[in-house]
Amino acid sequence: MTEKEHSNQAIVLFSGGQDSTTCLAWALARFSRVATVAFDYRQRHGVELACRADVLARLGDVNPGWPSMLGEDHLIDLGLLAGLGDTALTRDVEIRMQDNGLPSTFVPGRNLLFLTVAAAIAYRSGIRHIVGGMCETDYSGYPDCRDDTVKAMQLALNLGMDAHFVLHTPLMWLDKADTWKLAEDLGGTALVALIGEHSHTCYLGERTRRWEWGYGCGDCPACRLRADGWARYLGRAAAHASNAG
Ligand code: ZN
Repeated sequence: MTEKEHSNQAIVLFSGGQDSTTCLAWALARFSRVATVAFDYRQRHGVELACRADVLARLGDVNPGWPSMLGEDHLIDLGLLAGLGDTALTRDVEIRMQDNGLPSTFVPGRNLLFLTVAAAIAYRSGIRHIVGGMCETDYSGYPDCRDDTVKAMQLALNLGMDAHFVLHTPLMWLDKADTWKLAEDLGGTALVALIGEHSHTCYLGERTRRWEWGYGCGDCPACRLRADGWARYLGRAAAHASNAG
């Protein structure tokens, strides 16, 4: 493969959630070959790792050209994150706001580690572009989702690996309603339906209750964000239709 072809390859941090599924579609619309990586850090919502296989298997229903563009899918064991201490994402403890203003779902260093591992895979594979669903708009206060954090990581990774990675965060300035709309723009109603049925968001790993926006408990912060975004997405679509009419 030539250098130019390598420079048009991407790896997507693909957990199987709404955001990362939208990022995967965004990458498939831009790059010639798209690898994927997920991390098993003993998350309570480990069901998302099963959901991602369903999403990958059904991408052809959205765009027949997409399956042949998929590169290797990596599942990396980061169980050490769970061993480092209590967080509500890796232990069965209450999801609440802590005294420091961060939710108890915050896993210190998680996205920093994810980006570092993704860059190590990209380095070995000759991949230039790294795509993640970090978002500063609905970011629940996670400091490792901030645009400045990701930009600093890009600099650190390029210096530390003597590389020229480009870190992309297509959702950085979108809210959850915008993210549903982006999915619609990228893959039409077929992608919106795929995300609704097969992506996973709920922190508690609940997949027996089906809502209009997908499966989940309906009450954890992740479910509430997703449900609220869905309602506003439908509201904007309705307003747009009535303006157009
Ligand atoms: Zn939930």
